[in-house]
Amino acid sequence: MRSVSFAGIMYHKFCIIDERICLFGSFNWTQSANIRNIEDLNICDEVSLVKNYLLEFKALWDLSKTDIRLLRNPQHCEICKQPIINILFMEQEGYNETKIDVMQQCGCGQRTVYTDLYDISVYNNYLVAVETFDDDIAMAQQSGDEILYYQLMAQQDFVIANYLSLVRQNRMGFPIIHAVGVKAWEWYDKHDGEYVYKIIWKERGTEQYVENEYSIE
Ligand SMILES: [Zn+2]
Repeated sequence: MRSVSFAGIMYHKFCIIDERICLFGSFNWTQSANIRNIEDLNICDEVSLVKNYLLEFKALWDLSKTDIRLLRNPQHCEICKQPIINILFMEQEGYNETKIDVMQQCGCGQRTVYTDLYDISVYNNYLVAVETFDDDIAMAQQSGDEILYYQLMAQQDFVIANYLSLVRQNRMGFPIIHAVGVKAWEWYDKHDGEYVYKIIWKERGTEQYVENEYSIE
């Protein structure tokens, strides 16, 4: 048995049996949840879904002890006392390339600590992961099928997290990544807005201190 110790109760709760069947849902794997709470537990043998959970399990397994320690206890800036986090930003560069910047952020400001160009497929694969579920999610929302809606949202989250884990695992020479973001346009009102860094994925254990959005300095 191997246990991963992050602060708080684990957000992803699932159990895979024989790489064929997956149990997942809001059910907490504790005695008190069993007795008192009304929780949902799904049992699924759909190959693609079980595969997603297997990937997630592998990603958790592959996090080294050092990585987990760094994610739980980020280094703090001596000046502003805030956590120093590294955010990986992806954007399309021209027609053929993905630009990846790793930006270091604390209360004092931002600085780019790594920049490189990769094949455009890195960015396109991410977009595919996001868009695959979009139509189905919109349909579930319109039809008012809440259970289906949350199931699809959870599946989309997993696919994105798994894809970004791959990007993260392929990091070559760049520091530990706490979160992944994209540049997104945000409207103040009907006429005016600005670009912000929108966080689209947080590494396991960083939910407590990584914000959902950062302004561009
Ligand atoms: Zn600082």
